Amino acid sequence: MTALRLYNTLTRQKEELRPVREDIVRIYSCGPTVYRYVHIGNLRTFMLPDLLRRSLEYLGYRTEQVMNITDVGHLTDDTFDRGEDKMLVSARLEHKSPKEIAAYYTQAFMTDAALVNIRAADHNPRASQYIAQMIELIEKLIARGHAYEVGGTVYYDIASFPAYGRLSRNSTDKLLAGARGEVDPRKHHPGDFTLWKAAGEHRLQVWPSPWGPGFPGWHIECSAMSMSLLGETFDIHTGGADNVFPHHEAELAQSEGVTGHRVVNHWMHGGLLMLSGARMAKSAGNFFRVTELVDQGFDPLAFRYLALQAKYRTTLNFSTEGLAGADRALAMLRRRVGEWSTGSDDSSQGREFEDFEARFRAALADDLDLPAAMALVSEVTHSNLPAARRAELLRRWDRVLGLDLDRVAPDIELPAGAEALLEAREKARTAGDFETSDRLRNELAAMGMTVTDTPEGQRWKNAPHK
Ligand SMILES: [Zn+2]
Repeated sequence: MTALRLYNTLTRQKEELRPVREDIVRIYSCGPTVYRYVHIGNLRTFMLPDLLRRSLEYLGYRTEQVMNITDVGHLTDDTFDRGEDKMLVSARLEHKSPKEIAAYYTQAFMTDAALVNIRAADHNPRASQYIAQMIELIEKLIARGHAYEVGGTVYYDIASFPAYGRLSRNSTDKLLAGARGEVDPRKHHPGDFTLWKAAGEHRLQVWPSPWGPGFPGWHIECSAMSMSLLGETFDIHTGGADNVFPHHEAELAQSEGVTGHRVVNHWMHGGLLMLSGARMAKSAGNFFRVTELVDQGFDPLAFRYLALQAKYRTTLNFSTEGLAGADRALAMLRRRVGEWSTGSDDSSQGREFEDFEARFRAALADDLDLPAAMALVSEVTHSNLPAARRAELLRRWDRVLGLDLDRVAPDIELPAGAEALLEAREKARTAGDFETSDRLRNELAAMGMTVTDTPEGQRWKNAPHK
């Protein structure tokens, strides 16, 4: 097993991963709220634990992953626990029951995730199946002085937990300043968050509790499901950067408030996906579902290829041009792997092969440096390794990258040398060297290739053989 260093949001530094149980790394990932389709920004977030697991397994670990499905309790204003349950809003709009909404969008999520080769988690607990465990945690929090009940609603008392704000670096003063608009005057502190909400007018998604009928807050769900399935100490918790506050700050306060000790060893958060300078979000109306990219003619794994080119913690700007570039690069890579695989087999692996392999593992072990891993992919394709060895390395690395490099490109065969010319021309175009790009277009034309330039890059056709 290779030792890994992972950035921990809690301590703001890279730390060596030391699994609680030596033989297995146990991961909890916040999953989708199933009231609508996930967009590609969500998929980038869910790709992080997938890449984490694949990397860990490549480096010799076993993994166990829980990804929850939120089917109750996630309100439309999750910063201040206000508004309506998102499930109920969709149920009303679509004239369906919350159960039907949950079943439909859970299936859609699984389908979309599979399109970008996100492997399914070992467990997908539904929040609505863990109500009893949530009630038990809330009772313990009340008994330990971390929570209080007012009129059937239970709030977490953030003043009772001095570490509150440590994960997100939010001070309670800042929380106070952020509490605009109507806040329940029965709260001790405006930043106190809901553990259990009295049913009020609600008739759907309501359960009995020691405080009367109601439903759980969003944050308590993840404390209940993570500790029920992974125990009171586990290795890694993942989520999107937008989950740090309030969701994970609250989860940490709940889980540690109940157990009195550290529960999560590493907090990992994936950067957001931006579109035209704004965060991809349904509310902003600027988002794509991955199937829309497929409808536009892109390979869904081109999105995965694009995501691999940025460090997982950085914000990634999405553009159709960028996706088109990734789509072409992926098709070319597959074609090469296909060609090289049929090359004569030279069984000696040699020093260069081992050196590449060591560098790939080192990139993964350094806080999942996948851009560095992708740079190695490019280096291998231009290396002097025998073709069959190049293909072998890339196929092996694809266990982590998940790009289906073994898939045969559907394109018709290109004339010998055309691929190199296309690549050179793309480079020249990008660099603004139009003299070279025109010359290369003529050379390609002489081979029977018609090349046209589009805003998304060059497109080519291979003239039919006569
Ligand atoms: Zn969560």
